[in-house]
Amino acid sequence: MTRVNATATRVLVLNSGSSSVKYQLLDMADGSRLASGNVERVGEGEVADHTEALKRVAAELDARDLGLHSPRLAAIGHRVVHGGTRFTEPVLVTDEVLAEVEKLVPLAPLHNPANLTGIRVARALRPDLPQVAVFDTAFHATIPEAAARYAIDTATADRFGVRRYGFHGTSHAYVSRETARLLGAEPADVNVIVLHLGNGASASAVRGGVCVDTSMGLTPLEGLVMGTRSGDLDPAVVLLLARVGGMSADEIDTLLNKRSGLLGLCGDNDMREIGRRMAEQDPAARLAFDVYVHRLRKYVGAYTAVLGRVDAVAFTAGVGENSPAVRAAALADLTALGIEVDAVRNAVRGSAARLISAETSRVAVAVVPTDEELEIASQTYALVRA
Ligand code: AMP
Repeated sequence: MTRVNATATRVLVLNSGSSSVKYQLLDMADGSRLASGNVERVGEGEVADHTEALKRVAAELDARDLGLHSPRLAAIGHRVVHGGTRFTEPVLVTDEVLAEVEKLVPLAPLHNPANLTGIRVARALRPDLPQVAVFDTAFHATIPEAAARYAIDTATADRFGVRRYGFHGTSHAYVSRETARLLGAEPADVNVIVLHLGNGASASAVRGGVCVDTSMGLTPLEGLVMGTRSGDLDPAVVLLLARVGGMSADEIDTLLNKRSGLLGLCGDNDMREIGRRMAEQDPAARLAFDVYVHRLRKYVGAYTAVLGRVDAVAFTAGVGENSPAVRAAALADLTALGIEVDAVRNAVRGSAARLISAETSRVAVAVVPTDEELEIASQTYALVRA
């Protein structure tokens, strides 16, 4: 196994997307954030490719004496979007791991290639340093077959890897655990519905720390209404657009991923803008909000049934952490399910994890800021220290 010296307590987290590289440097001795940044528009002019982008990250860190060659750096943790059924835990990157991640590219054609490039470039820059891949799908690997299977011909499904994998796993893992902590309980004793509502959005049902269902599926397109993604849809919509609309697979892909969701419904994908427009009685903004909230409520109801007993509902990510209006509407009139939001607590802004349920609420309702970088760093550090 890899040897890491005792003073090496820092982890660099890299999130290499298709057109950006985000990074954070954390010190796991105290959880502090030493540096963070985002190299954008990779492949468009100034930053020619991921090699160039990572060199920039290295230069930005060097300039602050936190460079890639610092002996205090213990490892680099990479976010990898799709781990398929092969990767259910973080792994130390080897040539064999890279080859396996490569095989998953058809399942995540936009994301996995960028993630792989980031890993390859980072390895070239520091071949001696442990690199860890942390998969967005991993936390959902525990979902039982009944929830993971689509009801299509099994042989066809297996041949193409068609099943529900789920995404935002590091966030669901982190937030479900932090929710237990907020309640002063062990994760093993708590059932939580996590609502990750950012530009992408997903819900998960977590029983005693173990994920048992989630709203995203084969790809991050299924489930909740998102900023620009449709979420759940009758698959025949795709057929109609192809047969009657004459649209190609790529055109439908772009429509459903980039021009749907809140944006498709009202022309804005930012909940703040939608709030402003609703205050001016804009009917399209109102409709977008209502469709968004209706879908969310359906998942809360569904996951209440899946879990049987719910101890907490936790809101996280951009919308979940910052929109009292969405939280209030999503859980309005659910007293029959034991869910009561306190209007005053819900309206309070803050950056800490907090309860917003009424004293009389049987189910705790919480706002729990997510921290995917910290979770990736923690998992990376745990692996190289093991
Ligand atoms: P994320 O992907 O977690 O960074 O979330 C981004 C989204 O959060 C934005 O597109 C906004 O819709 C939403 N958001 C951020 N701040 C607020 C706010 N103060 N009120 C409502 N929505 C917000």
